[in-house]
Amino acid sequence: MTTIEKRKLMDKDAPNRSTGIVNGTSSNILNWDDVRFSWAYPKYKRMLGNFWTPFEINMGSDVKQFSSLNEPERQAFLKIIGLLALLDSIQTDFAGKVADYLTDSSLNALMIILAQQEVIHNHSYSYVLSSLVSKDEQDRVFDYWRTETVLEKRNEFIMKGYEEFSDNPNVDSLLKAIVYDVILEGLFFYSGFAFFYHLARHQKMVGTSTMINYINRDEQIHVDLFVKIYQELLSEYPEYDTQERAREVESIFKEAAMLETEWAHEVIGNQIDGLDVEDVEEYIYFYANVRCAQLGYERPFPEYRKNPLKWIKAYEDVDLGKTDFFEQKS
Ligand code: ZN
Ligand code: ZN
Repeated sequence: MTTIEKRKLMDKDAPNRSTGIVNGTSSNILNWDDVRFSWAYPKYKRMLGNFWTPFEINMGSDVKQFSSLNEPERQAFLKIIGLLALLDSIQTDFAGKVADYLTDSSLNALMIILAQQEVIHNHSYSYVLSSLVSKDEQDRVFDYWRTETVLEKRNEFIMKGYEEFSDNPNVDSLLKAIVYDVILEGLFFYSGFAFFYHLARHQKMVGTSTMINYINRDEQIHVDLFVKIYQELLSEYPEYDTQERAREVESIFKEAAMLETEWAHEVIGNQIDGLDVEDVEEYIYFYANVRCAQLGYERPFPEYRKNPLKWIKAYEDVDLGKTDFFEQKS
């Protein structure tokens, strides 16, 4: 097992461009024109271009509409926000931990921006809840991760993968933690996203859904960034690129998809008018396939090749900039 060491704060004898993605030497000076990976700067520009804050979003009509949602919609709304709040909180800290071990200063910079975006995501949940519900209710939502059994199971699943790396940082545990990361940022948010886009499609809670779209857009870049790091790690440590790993990744994704569909049944079930939980289930399998393929592996659910929620595409992919896409869309 190749142990990995934290990046030095300064190294006078090392070049600015790191000699390795981990365990490399680097002065730790950040010069964007002298970095190890050519994709880092374009990624940096995209991440900055996406910058947004919750203050931009007017919650006025959501405040009026929230009380007109039916009970299952309201419950799903709050539970999903509670779930996202936990995932984004963990993610802020995890990104910082990974950053410590990447020996290229540009990758460290990208991780810091990623972590900052997670802070903004978390802020958006407080912003939404403080606009819509009482402080007591808000506190309750932020505690769902302690009280909801289905959630607890899912969270423990991710934590296991993350803690293995933070307790024992080596190439293998970092690779594995990245797989869990791709699940967190690229799969575990997705039944939540589907629910909010479903509301937006029916012109409900458009402010919140706009925020969710911004978060979705950030998460796509985050997944992409971690996938890049994964691939660079494997190319610098090809001895870790084994059949055994491919099988392990497949089985981790299968378990993740099972946990996510279980959650979808709990939170969406048959209670949400117009959103079929079977479709959401297929949507989860479809995304598990997409993420595995991004990491360079076979699809774990080969029979689910098409996105069953076709209409979602318009919501996921839209590059909102500062337009009011959600308002115009019906
Ligand atoms: Zn996030
Ligand atoms: Zn993220």
